[in-house]
Amino acid sequence: MTELVLPDPCLVVLVGAAGSGKSTFAARHFAPDETLSSDAYRAAIAGDPANQAANGAAFKALHRSLDRRLQAGALTVVDATNVTMPARRALVAIAGRAGLPSIAIVLDMAPAVVLARNAARADRVVPEAVVRRHLAELRTVVDRRTLEADGFASIVLLDDPAAIESTVVRRAYRANRD
Ligand code: GDP
Ligand code: MG
Repeated sequence: MTELVLPDPCLVVLVGAAGSGKSTFAARHFAPDETLSSDAYRAAIAGDPANQAANGAAFKALHRSLDRRLQAGALTVVDATNVTMPARRALVAIAGRAGLPSIAIVLDMAPAVVLARNAARADRVVPEAVVRRHLAELRTVVDRRTLEADGFASIVLLDDPAAIESTVVRRAYRANRD
């Protein structure tokens, strides 16, 4: 069993390719209203969770909601690929302004597992080329330890499907903010 202890409140940044299990992980361990998902914002703005043309407006709205929640001291999870440094740093900066720590949870699954899960999805299947790009970006991020320069208070790397399924998330209440 992997026990993950999160400071509460904090920002949780999920990092992983499409199909790596981010939304499943979020649904298993967090309440729906604690999770801000890029898919949901694209759907709300463009009527389609896959519409990449809506990204600008979708992330602007997501950042605004994140800012409001963190300023109010509410633990919040961002369910988006977050494979690029600017994407992660924008989130960490919002948490920093609220005086809250950011925790990265990286779902580093084997490419074959990710591609198979994506292809088998009941909802929307992301084009394979896009998933391969996510996987390549994630490889660089993990292998070059670039996350360590993004300002996270801690980085949790989950790379074993069995360990992920047995992960337990606990919250440690923080009376004093940073
Ligand atoms: P996301 O694109 O990163 O949000 O990935 P999802 O959470 O949507 O998961 C993609 C697919 O993999 C879905 O069909 C899930 O049911 C499946 N999946 C996700 N996590 C797990 C897991 O821990 N075990 C198994 N067996 N399947 C999973
Ligand atoms: Mg998802």
